[in-house]
Amino acid sequence: MSKKNIYSFTQEELIKELVENPIKQFPSFRAKQIYHWLYTKYEDDFSKMENLPKELREFLKDNYTSNAVEIARKEESSDGSVKYLFKTLDNLTYEAVFLKMKEDKFTFCLSSQIGCKVGCSFCLTAKGGFVRNLSIGEMVYQVVAIKKDQNIPSNKAVNIVYMGMGEPLDNLESVKGCISILSELDGLSISARRQTISTSGIAPKIKKLGALNLGVQLAISLHAVDDKLRTELMPINKAYNIQAIIDEVRTFPIDSRKHVMFEYLMIDGLNDGLESAKKLVALLNKIKAKVNLIYFNPHEGSIYKRPSKEKVEAFREFLLKKGLLCTIRESKGLDISAACGQLREKELHN
Ligand code: SAH
Ligand code: SF4
Repeated sequence: MSKKNIYSFTQEELIKELVENPIKQFPSFRAKQIYHWLYTKYEDDFSKMENLPKELREFLKDNYTSNAVEIARKEESSDGSVKYLFKTLDNLTYEAVFLKMKEDKFTFCLSSQIGCKVGCSFCLTAKGGFVRNLSIGEMVYQVVAIKKDQNIPSNKAVNIVYMGMGEPLDNLESVKGCISILSELDGLSISARRQTISTSGIAPKIKKLGALNLGVQLAISLHAVDDKLRTELMPINKAYNIQAIIDEVRTFPIDSRKHVMFEYLMIDGLNDGLESAKKLVALLNKIKAKVNLIYFNPHEGSIYKRPSKEKVEAFREFLLKKGLLCTIRESKGLDISAACGQLREKELHN
């Protein structure tokens, strides 16, 4: 029987594993101790969990794995962001990025799938097609590994964005599990409020996510203000067009202090003019929205170009004047193949 990934259980589920398994039963308080080792001390060697009885350490070693994923490669950018390439037991790779925001704030950008089914024309992840979903443990491990590698104490609050490789709503079961584990108070203690799910706009799944009432933040990858261009960039727009997405967003339960984020990839000459900005303002009318402008990050073979700084800033100015919140995503880590999928692409072709 294959071993279960130790990073795939909430504390309650871990208690069940200890108390209800047919091999040997252990008291429930041991789950809290194991959690402490895994998520506070970042210890992944069961034999070193010294306050656990030997019998339990052996039970863990025989039935669970703590090293189903390893860091295969790491690239550091001059701005302090670090991109990690992880390798799974079946020799597949996926990425996560550690971003240093201002005032000592950290954001971790996580992957949810290896590859992606959505097939956006500007995205490198899409190029390789879809390989498989990440498991809960494979997702959670991204956070543990980065916190450990960056020496970030467990009580230091960090933000999580599901904006790496993959479409999180196409792997909602695992993403949901990951959110619960990350938010465990005896573990990493990253509340759902600090976690943002970014989606290409699969309308019925946004509804499903809303109904789960997890308390997470929502980000929509909009990228265009008319259906013709959006369909060209994101074929999923044929199934769920801009209006269908906006309708879902209007009923999504959001924290009264928060906003729905609309990501808008700026591509030279395609969607970066003020006429697009004007349409965007009209589209987001009466939505508690925050727009995040992203510079298109060119990669080999891409037909699109990065817009000028002047264009992006003029776009932002226009939105601000109309009363919309708007930030520009600094091209963090441009020198470390920042856009999602680029480190993996490098590894595959080396
Ligand atoms: N699949 C989800 C989750 C994130 S996709 C979604 O589409 O929302 C990864 C993020 O990287 C998206 O915000 C996307 O807009 C951005 N991205 C993809 N390719 C990019 C590129 N070449 N340059 C800049 N950003 C890119
Ligand atoms: Fe998938 Fe997001 Fe890339 Fe589109 S942008 S292909 S949805 S990962």
